[in-house]
Amino acid sequence: MTPGFQELRLDGVGRRFSGKDALADLDLTIRAGEFIALLGPSGCGKSTALNCLAGLLPLTSGSIWQRRSDGEKRIDVLPPEKRGFGMVFQNYALFPHMSVRRNVAFGLQMRRLSKAEVARRTAEAIRLVQLEEHVDKLPGQLSGGQQQRVAIARAVVLEPSLVLMDEPLSNLDAKLRLEMRTEIRRLHQSLGLTTVYVTHDQEEALSLADRLVVLRAGRVQQIGTPEDLHARPANWHVADFMGFRNMVEMTAAQASGDEVVLEGEGLRLVGTAMSPVEAGASVVAAVRPEDVLVVEADGQNRITATVDVVEYQGRELAVEARTGTGRALHLRTDQRLAPGDAVTLAVAPERLLVYPREAAEPAPSELAEVAG
Ligand code: ATP
Repeated sequence: MTPGFQELRLDGVGRRFSGKDALADLDLTIRAGEFIALLGPSGCGKSTALNCLAGLLPLTSGSIWQRRSDGEKRIDVLPPEKRGFGMVFQNYALFPHMSVRRNVAFGLQMRRLSKAEVARRTAEAIRLVQLEEHVDKLPGQLSGGQQQRVAIARAVVLEPSLVLMDEPLSNLDAKLRLEMRTEIRRLHQSLGLTTVYVTHDQEEALSLADRLVVLRAGRVQQIGTPEDLHARPANWHVADFMGFRNMVEMTAAQASGDEVVLEGEGLRLVGTAMSPVEAGASVVAAVRPEDVLVVEADGQNRITATVDVVEYQGRELAVEARTGTGRALHLRTDQRLAPGDAVTLAVAPERLLVYPREAAEPAPSELAEVAG
C-alpha cells in the first residue's frame, strides 16, 4: 500500500474547551509506516489529539502538515473526508442492517469504483481479518471481536494513508483483546500501514507501538520507543504509568553525578538520578516490583520488611510487604512467602530511579489518596 505521504507533522497542535487546554503544544512527526501509540490516563487529551488529526475537531492553535514527494501540504484546514484517513473506534459503528460484506464494501461503492474492483478489494480485506466464513452475517450475529475485525476491514479496505484507532479493543474480554492486539500489529505490518493508536493500557501500547507518546493533562511528557520508556521514564508521572508501582518520597542527602544517596522512611538507599538532583532536594524514588529482590545477606540498599499480603500468580507471588515505618512495598518473587514473614529486600542502585519533585506538584502519595 502506498502511504501517500512521507511524514505527517503536528506543529504546536492545541485544542481548548471553554478556555481550558485539553491538548497543548503537541509537536510530533509521524513517519510513513510507523505505529504510534498515544498513551495516558483518562482525560489526558488522547482522544482530543486523535480527533484533531482526523479532522473531527478544529484546532485552536498549531497546524498539521503532510510531507509528500512534491512538497509539504497543510491538512488541518481540510475536512475529514479530504484527509483520506481510516478510523476505527471502540463503538464499531457498523451498519446493523448490512452484511459483513456490504459493510466492508460500502466505502468503496461510495467511491464509485467498478463492481469487479469493489468485489476484489472487499474479498481481500475480509480475508485479511479472517472473516471469510462470516461474510453474509449481520453485525448482530457476530461476537464483539468479529465485529471489531469488520470495523478494521472497513477502514483498511480504503487503503488509507493513515489509520486512526481510538481504544479499539476496550470492549473486548481479556483473551480476545490479546488476540486482536496481535492481529492489529500483523495487519499494520503486512499492509504497510501508518497507524496512530489511542490507549490507556501501557502494556498494549508497549507491545504494539514503534514509538509512544505519553500525555498528561494535555501535555506531552515523553516521546520514545518502548525500550526508552520502559528503561528511562522522563519523570515520575511517566514512571508511574510504566509500572513503577513503588514510589517513595525521600530526601537527597548527597548527590554526585547521577548517584544519589536517599534518606527518608527510616531508610538510607543509593539510587540513580534521572535528571539533575541537588543535595537537600525532595525527590521521588521509583522502583518496579520485579526489581525489589528478597535476599539473605546484608549489604548495600537493604530494606527490612514484613510480608503483609500474598497473591498467587502462577510461577510467582505478588507480595505487599511493609517497612518499619509502615510504608507498603510491592514485589514479585518465586519464594513461597506467607503473611507475617520477616524479609530482607534489596534494590540495585541502577534500578532505583530518582526524580526531582517540583515544589508546587502534589506528591505521588497525595495523588494515590485522591485516586483511591
Ligand atoms: P479518555 O481515555 O477518558 O477518553 P482522553 O485522554 O481521551 O480520555 P480527552 O477525551 O481527549 O481525554 O479529553 C481531554 C480533556 O478535554 C478532558 O478534561 C475532557 O473533559 C475535555 N473535553 C474533551 N472533549 C470535550 C468537549 N467536547 N467539551 C468540553 N470538554 C471536553
